[in-house]
Parts: sequence; C-alpha cells; structure tokens
Amino acid sequence: MLKKETVMVAKKKAAAMIRESGIKLSAEEEEGIEVLDFGLSNLDKEGAQILTFFDTPRVSVRVVALFPHQTIPEHWHPPNDNDPGKEENIRVVEGTLFLYLQGEDNMNSGGIPEGRDDYYTARHEIVLKPGSQITLQPGTKHWFQAGSKGTVFYLFSSQDILDEFTDPKVSKKSN
Ligand code: ZN
Repeated sequence: MLKKETVMVAKKKAAAMIRESGIKLSAEEEEGIEVLDFGLSNLDKEGAQILTFFDTPRVSVRVVALFPHQTIPEHWHPPNDNDPGKEENIRVVEGTLFLYLQGEDNMNSGGIPEGRDDYYTARHEIVLKPGSQITLQPGTKHWFQAGSKGTVFYLFSSQDILDEFTDPKVSKKSN
C-alpha cells in the first residue's frame, strides 16, 4: 500500500517528466495520473505512472512515465470470449525504454529487479529510443524497464481487458 505522500510526489515527478518530453497536460490531467505499485509496495523498483487520455470500448491511449530503472512487471494480455486479447503499440517520446520478450537471452542494458528472477522469464531485450515504436501482439509475454534517466512513452491499445502477470502476487491496483 502506498502512502498518500508517496503518490503525490510520484504524480508531480511524472507530470514534470511528461511535460519536459513536450506533451501538454492540463492540471486535471496531472491530477488524474495513476501511480501503480502493482501491489508490491516497491514503487521505485516495480511500478508505473500512467495517464489515460482515451479509454473507449474499442481503443485506449495512454502516456506512461517510468522513473530511472523502474520496471513494469512481466505480463501478457490473454484472449477472452469475444476478443483475441489486447494489442499494444508503444512509441517512445523521451529517454530509453528496455522491452523484454521471450526469445534468445541477450539481456545487457537492463536487469531483473533484485530477487525477482522467477517472475521475469522473458529475457530478449529490445532497446527503444525516442521515435522508436513497436507493436505487441496479444498473448505475448513482456515487461518494461526505464533506462538510467527514466522514460516517457505512449501506449496505444485495443480494448483494455484483463492482464495476467507472471507473479501471482501482482495486482493492477495501486492500493
Ligand atoms: Zn502489456
């Protein structure tokens, strides 16, 4: 569970990063930034700051700010009855983003949060810089980590349905 103070500080920091990247934000939008610790109570290591611009039944647009080396835990977007699973499109605006997928282990620049090896099985590293983008097909296991200066990226996705995490303790709720 995150303290109110921690959430406030993280929100402010994320808003500043987003603005510095050139994306305009209103005061209301800044207030709406979600600070997620995925139920792990270790925000700076495993967490994310996410602002949703659009979330309709068919498409969502978000901007994500990750602090230096902050990691979004490994997860995938499974199909459900009527949908093949969420497709995610990522485009980096600022900083370096390491993306990990299943495949040949070439992990080099980023690293698994300490003591958490069991929950990070995808070890194929892709380095994304400002202006690079990638599409993740539904069902693909993946996790994200910011480089040493943090990162800001867009996340465009289809219908926001259930995510599943490798670590069963992870929840999408922040508190
Ligand atoms: Zn995802």
